[in-house]
Amino acid sequence: GFSTATAIEEPIQPPVQVNHTQLLINGQFVDSASGRTFPTLDPRTGELIAHVAEGDVEDVNRAVVAARKAFDEGPWPKMTGYQRSCILYRFADLIEKHNDEIAALETWDNGKPYEQAAKAEIPTLARLMRYYAGWADKIHGLIVPADSPHHVQVLHEPIGVAGQIIPWNFPLLMFAWKVGPALACGNTIVLKTAEQTPLSALLVSKLFHEAGLPDGVLNVISGFGPTAGAALASHMDVDKLAFTGSTDTGKIVLELAARSNLKPVTLELGGKSPIIIMDDADIDQAVEVAHFALFFNQGQCCCAGSRTFVHERVYDEFVEKAKARALKRVVGDPFRKGVEQGPQIDEEQFSKILHYIKSGVDSGATLVTGGDRIGSKGYYIQPTVFSDVEDKMKIAKEEIFGPVQTILKFKDVNEVIQRANTTRYGLAAGVFTHNLNTANTFMRALRAGTVWINCYDVFDAAIPFGGYKMSGNGREKGIDSLKNYLQVKAVVTPLKNPAW
Ligand code: NAD
Repeated sequence: GFSTATAIEEPIQPPVQVNHTQLLINGQFVDSASGRTFPTLDPRTGELIAHVAEGDVEDVNRAVVAARKAFDEGPWPKMTGYQRSCILYRFADLIEKHNDEIAALETWDNGKPYEQAAKAEIPTLARLMRYYAGWADKIHGLIVPADSPHHVQVLHEPIGVAGQIIPWNFPLLMFAWKVGPALACGNTIVLKTAEQTPLSALLVSKLFHEAGLPDGVLNVISGFGPTAGAALASHMDVDKLAFTGSTDTGKIVLELAARSNLKPVTLELGGKSPIIIMDDADIDQAVEVAHFALFFNQGQCCCAGSRTFVHERVYDEFVEKAKARALKRVVGDPFRKGVEQGPQIDEEQFSKILHYIKSGVDSGATLVTGGDRIGSKGYYIQPTVFSDVEDKMKIAKEEIFGPVQTILKFKDVNEVIQRANTTRYGLAAGVFTHNLNTANTFMRALRAGTVWINCYDVFDAAIPFGGYKMSGNGREKGIDSLKNYLQVKAVVTPLKNPAW
């Protein structure tokens, strides 16, 4: 059975204190204009961690004024790229120095395994900052040839004030994907964290100021979507909006942006990403990677491999092994060593996932293992596997965002390509085969922003990430992410003596 014992024990005291709960505006921690606060809860118990200042329209206005001033008057956009780069490098050093403290806060607020935060996510935050530090002094325009006797320069300028809205599943990685390129390009920022996970961004933003970031360049607002988030999306003085979250909310912010000042919007939305396992694949490896692809981060990944298509010749073997692997998954207090899975983020997601599990059973899928909560406190869910899943079932079509693997059967390549692409989403896909021709066919045919072949969830600062179709637009990370934060200006002057 599951390691239920560890999950229901008394929660371990987190090795960190909460020191920052106010809004960060113009380099200062301040209360919200209304004086209101909201609770942020421990997903292990549903109990209070801290009361946090609740930002709303007036606070967003104050933050935008600060960001505008920091942009228009400088020094940030007027600094040399190298000066900005040095600050980003110093920030990365401070992240490394405070790695364990930051990781503990991330785990406490989010519920993800501490080892995952401390060994992978916080080091990746530092890595991403160094990647963008490396870009800051290498962003430049072009001289382009024209047909007529003109000297033509194309300048790449920062856009201005960037509004950024992030989710709760990877609070600091989403922070890094947004803040890194915006700052490297010389923009200033008002960032709204997710209401479930406001704490870690406040801590690291304080470190950013210690690293020399000028006041007003990065303003951090805790608060809710329909209030603070909507105020940012519809603000007339925000020049660009970047959003990560659900597809439904993506539509709302795009509309708010259109109805206000037509600010350009980049969106990273949901997914229902297929993983395709051919009969010539290394089945043990495919089982392990497909398990990771779905269950990683409690199943709360936008690119979760949430439709596992398995060739009929290896289907039964795969299902048996996937079940055995799910049963071995160590669920428990995320601060405990060796734990692979902590609690879901909150009551809402927890109930939604249990609802989807019920829907799977009701629609006739086979519940292979799991299917219930663990313990009576907090938001722990058993690693759950469904087989005999059909394309038309809700669990095969909608984003569950939890530890629920759905396994479907297929016969041939063309059939599975068509089924894999029959979704409104297009974030990622995985393929397991040892046949190069098959791999190449899938690689070209799958309509997704990332195709992983014989691997999954391999991320890198330099690899662009983003979606086709309703999974969003624009790319984060890599060189493509810079384009989101640069304005292009053409400058044309006549050449009096074209020969020179
Ligand atoms: P959400 O889209 O509601 O929240 C994401 C962010 O948007 C949060 O900061 C939130 O405060 C903000 N927001 C919400 N409503 C807003 C509005 N009207 N205007 C402006 N900002 C607004 O997502 P959620 O409710 O936290 O999760 C719901 C579902 O979204 C999940 O079940 C999952 O399917 C999906 N999700 C996807 C990702 C991803 O990385 N793509 C991340 C988290 C959640």
